[in-house]
Formats: sequence, C-alpha cells, structure tokens
Amino acid sequence: MAARLLLRSAVRAAASRAGPAPVPALIRGMSAGGIPTDEEQATGMEKKIIHAMKTGSDPFSMLRPKEYAGTKQDPHIVPSITDKRIVGCICEEDNTAVVWFWLHQGEAQRCPSCGSHYKLVPHELPH
Ligand SMILES: [Zn+2]
Repeated sequence: MAARLLLRSAVRAAASRAGPAPVPALIRGMSAGGIPTDEEQATGMEKKIIHAMKTGSDPFSMLRPKEYAGTKQDPHIVPSITDKRIVGCICEEDNTAVVWFWLHQGEAQRCPSCGSHYKLVPHELPH
C-alpha cells in the first residue's frame, strides 16, 4: 500500500515535469521601469499645470501674487482678459474700506484715494 502511494507520487512528479511549461507571470509596464512619476502619467489639465510650474509661468493664478511698490516705476500689475477691470485698493494696511475704481488699458492709473499706480496688462486664459 505504501509502495503504491510512493509510486503514484513519483508518476505525478514526472508528469508535471514533462507537462507544459509554466506560464510566466504577466509583465506589467511599471515592473520594467519602476513606478511612473506624476509627470509621466499626468494627462490633461494636470499635465498643463505641471508644465506651467516647470516653466515658472502661472496661467491659473495658483501662486501667491507678486508684490509691487505701486510707484510710477513699479506699478501694481493687474491682468485682465478685457480692456478694463475693476480694482479694489486697500490704501493703507489697516483700512477697513476698499476704494473701488475702473482700470483701463493703456498708461498706468492712480488710485483716486492714495495715488498708488496700477497698470492693466492683457491676460489670456489658458484654455
Ligand atoms: Zn488706494
């Protein structure tokens, strides 16, 4: 009885060795070169944003606004998709009232209250 069992297991072992070759595990794309980076797998808007960050541009106004002195030589830059934009000036740091005025394309304009200079620059939407 024990000899039969031994024989069966020997036959099975021989059959499995002679059988079809084991199927290799599927090779996934990331196993060849590691895990793809965000830049490699980004698409659409995310890809545009990553590219913009690399080039230093800020088409979606995601970065902190730059500070300007507000003088004639260094006016506050106001981007606009049209030829005018309404601007709110907090003339002094602790002011609770905002002075609103229209800024038009062309030369820099001054705030009617404090005299800070503002200049409108054309801005294109990224999409
Ligand atoms: Zn002002």
